[in-house]
Amino acid sequence: MTQNEDITASAALIKASTYTVVFTGAGISVESGIPPFRGHGGIWRHNDPSCLTMRYFRQQPKKSWETIRKLFYDLIATAQPNGAHRAIADLEKRGHVNSVITQNIDGLHQKAGSQTVYEYHGTIKKLVCIECFHPVESHSIDFSALPPVCPECGGILKPDFVFFGETIPKKITDLCSGEAHYADVMIVIGTSGSVKPASMIPFAAKRAGATIIEVNTEPSAYTRQITDIFLKGGATNVLTRMVDMIIDNRQGLS
Ligand code: NAD
Repeated sequence: MTQNEDITASAALIKASTYTVVFTGAGISVESGIPPFRGHGGIWRHNDPSCLTMRYFRQQPKKSWETIRKLFYDLIATAQPNGAHRAIADLEKRGHVNSVITQNIDGLHQKAGSQTVYEYHGTIKKLVCIECFHPVESHSIDFSALPPVCPECGGILKPDFVFFGETIPKKITDLCSGEAHYADVMIVIGTSGSVKPASMIPFAAKRAGATIIEVNTEPSAYTRQITDIFLKGGATNVLTRMVDMIIDNRQGLS
């Protein structure tokens, strides 16, 4: 099949679906200027991932925060949603997407207008005190003095996203398991499928009977194992073409 035929088939599946869940990773935000962790241009090629462990954070909070500020806050604060984020928000508005589960912490799905977004790894938008757990909005923090401290108790503030080795809160894992179970189509976009336990979500959806449509520039851990339709390419290009087909009645999909 040509890619155009694959996109047409995907559009038909999404139109016929009663519950479609989108699962995204760092790749969807690459076209917004945010590099992924791995692969070409990946963050960990030039930075030390140990800054994102709780052990290092507690021992060297200033050093850890300097890397976190550079990698996440300087870059992500100014990033804007791209065509793929907007296409997904558009599909939700039109009733073709029920929810988004994202591994990303950048908030770009919400910025694009998506309403039902499960942030599996948390968000950069909030910080939380590691002593008293007081939550603070990131925009209220002056990042010129590091580490930022809690206005309530003076403890160190940590970004409200999970560090390596931290446990994902049960509430979010339960919600996402439910979404995987309900889905009859899951669109998996821009994820290598190498970060557990998040990477297990598409496998759970497949076991529960979902059709897996994957969008990625490269094959991933899912492609050979569970993907039903693989759409190779940049997320914006593929998603905007798919939306055009879904909303264009001349394609005979309505
Ligand atoms: P990853 O870095 O392991 O893999 C990125 C994937 O995106 C790869 O499979 C790559 O082929 C694909 N890709 C690259 N450019 C693409 C494009 N234009 N269109 C479609 N696909 C593209 O990312 P991951 O699987 O999400 O796992 C890494 C972890 O990194 C996640 O837990 C996530 O929380 C975190 N992370 C988040 C951000 C962010 O919030 N934007 C950025 C970096 C890392």
